[in-house]
Amino acid sequence: MNFDLPDDVKEAQRKARDFASRYLTSEKAAYYDEREEYPHEIRKKALEEKIVDFSNPWHMLVTIEELCRADPGLGISATTPFFGVEILMLFGNEQQKARYMERVMRGEAIMGVAVTEPGGGSDVAGIKTSAVKRGNKWYISGSKMFITNGAIADFVAMLVRTSRPDEKRHHGLSVFLVDTKSKGFTANKLHGKLGVRATNTAELILNEVEVPEENLVGEEGRGFYYIMTFFDISRIYVAAQAIGIAQGALDRILRSLDLKSLSESQQFTVAEVATRVEAARMLTYQAASYLFNFNPVPKLTSMAKGYSSEVATFATQKAIELLGPAGLTGDVERFYRDAKIMEIWEGTSEVEKLIIYRSMLREVEKVAQ
Ligand SMILES: Cc1cc2nc3c(=O)[nH]c(=O)nc-3n(C[C@H](O)[C@H](O)[C@H](O)COP(=O)(O)OP(=O)(O)OC[C@H]3O[C@@H](n4cnc5c(N)ncnc54)[C@H](O)[C@@H]3O)c2cc1C
Repeated sequence: MNFDLPDDVKEAQRKARDFASRYLTSEKAAYYDEREEYPHEIRKKALEEKIVDFSNPWHMLVTIEELCRADPGLGISATTPFFGVEILMLFGNEQQKARYMERVMRGEAIMGVAVTEPGGGSDVAGIKTSAVKRGNKWYISGSKMFITNGAIADFVAMLVRTSRPDEKRHHGLSVFLVDTKSKGFTANKLHGKLGVRATNTAELILNEVEVPEENLVGEEGRGFYYIMTFFDISRIYVAAQAIGIAQGALDRILRSLDLKSLSESQQFTVAEVATRVEAARMLTYQAASYLFNFNPVPKLTSMAKGYSSEVATFATQKAIELLGPAGLTGDVERFYRDAKIMEIWEGTSEVEKLIIYRSMLREVEKVAQ
């Protein structure tokens, strides 16, 4: 067993760190955070310098970590135009890949994923936005809430109800690629978020939005399965965001304090933050190694996402406490606000715990059989 990263992954990490030091500066981070504006300049630079490399998931994982370590809002914004491409990679047909996915990969289009609704996000099977078919077109009506890239995306992969559920609530859901310029489609940008203010978040309203039948992804009625498969992948990347935030908080603790003059209790706090960051990283790399070898273990993925998110919150909170007044302004204050979303998107911490518990239950039942 070897815990060292391979040389090519170390090189991706070094490249991302170098990119972050040049573009993801504290000044830029504060600028976009205060204005709640999406940083298109960072997106373009990341594309120019080929920082985002979906052909190698390990490169993506360490890149996300490094970018979020420099700044979560800008770091997430650099990779988020690609949010959802895995849905097309895994379930899109050749036409959809050429028309949508490749434009995203070339940086010519921004994508989003729309699942959550004003009525709730955790109960995915309970979504109400629906599509009806007339001729060879579908017509979608309803609304989606808290959609990342919602007001800047060219299209979104949207989960909607296409038939009434049978005995299973998650049946009858389908994924469509919806062009955001379509008639009847409105995106209202949300203001005043707690954190990740550089990312664009919107409410989407759909009033009889016409979608051609060729924009149905995969099979009608299989959407729940596609979205859950996608979450199993994206949770690993959220875990990487969270580790980046936690590591960034630890960096700032180590940089800002006179380490030789800390009280014993402060020394213990620093040691505990460092230990949790390492534990989160190891758990995430373990879950990622199964996933990236096409053998995902959802229990481990949820453990990695849930735990790393809590470590991000813990580390940023301890950074504020240790730094005193200096922690209440600047980077650390922003990191503290940015960390919280890790415990919410891609499944709240409670949802991750439900997944872990249910997986354990199935394992116990299997052994008992
Ligand atoms: C900045 C931001 C960006 C986002 N981006 C996207 C996006 O791009 N696409 C998208 O589709 N969504 C997105 N979301 C939505 C996000 O995924 C949801 O907020 C999340 O899934 C939780 O849903 P909810 O907020 O509706 O809370 P709810 O589902 O209403 O849950 C409320 C509380 O109840 C708890 N809870 C719910 N069910 C259970 C249960 N069975 N057992 C125990 N506790 C439970 C939850 O953990 C939570 O604490 C984004 C959200 C934010 C804030």
